Amino acid sequence: MIERPAAPAAERLFFALWPPSSVRAQIEAFTNQLGNPRGRRMASPNLHITLLFLGRINAGQRDALIAAASALHLPAFMLTLDRCGHWPRSGVLWLAPAVTPGALSDLQDSLTAGARMLDLKIDEREYLPHLSLYRDVKRVPGTLPSPRIRWPVRDFVLVRSDTHPDGAYYTVLQRWRLGG
Ligand code: ATP
Ligand code: MG
Repeated sequence: MIERPAAPAAERLFFALWPPSSVRAQIEAFTNQLGNPRGRRMASPNLHITLLFLGRINAGQRDALIAAASALHLPAFMLTLDRCGHWPRSGVLWLAPAVTPGALSDLQDSLTAGARMLDLKIDEREYLPHLSLYRDVKRVPGTLPSPRIRWPVRDFVLVRSDTHPDGAYYTVLQRWRLGG
C-alpha cells in the first residue's frame, strides 16, 4: 500500500495595509458622519487596503510568498485618504487617495511580481487602492463628505481570510516593516 502525505490545507490569503489604531479611529469618525448608507458596514478591526489578493494558497506557496516579501526593501510612505466614493456596480463605499504614492505602486508591483514568479493566478485588472467602508450600498445620499486622513504607512501584512456567511474573519499572519 502506498501512503501519501495528506495534501496541505489551502488558505485564502491576501497582502494588505493594516491601519494603526489612531488611523482606524479617524476612519471610524469619518464613517460615522456618513449617516446611514444602508449597506453592510465593515467592522472596525477589519478595515484594510488590499495590496494583492492571492486566493487559495497551499503551505508551500505561502512560504515562498513570505520569502519573497521578506526580500523586499522598500520605503515607508505617507498615504493621504482624501477621497470618498461609491462604486454602484459592486456596492462598495470606499476611501482612497486622490493620488497613489509611487512607493505604494512599487510595493504593489513588487508583491505582484513575486506572486507571478510562483505562477499564481493574479487579478490582471488595474490596481485601485481603496479601503472599503461599506458593502452592498445601492445608492448614496447626495454628496459624500471629503475625508482628510493622513496615514503614515510603516508596514504591510499577510492576512488569512476565513469566510463565513456573516462576513470574513481576518488573521494577520505576518508583518513586514517598510523603510529604516
Ligand atoms: P466577503 O467576501 O465574505 O464579503 P471579504 O471580501 O472581506 O469578505 P475576502 O473575499 O476573503 O473577504 O477578500 C479579502 C480582501 O481581498 C478584501 O479586501 C477583498 O475586497 C479583496 N479581494 C477579494 N477577492 C478579490 C479579487 N478577486 N481581486 C482583488 N481583490 C479581491
Ligand atoms: Mg470577498
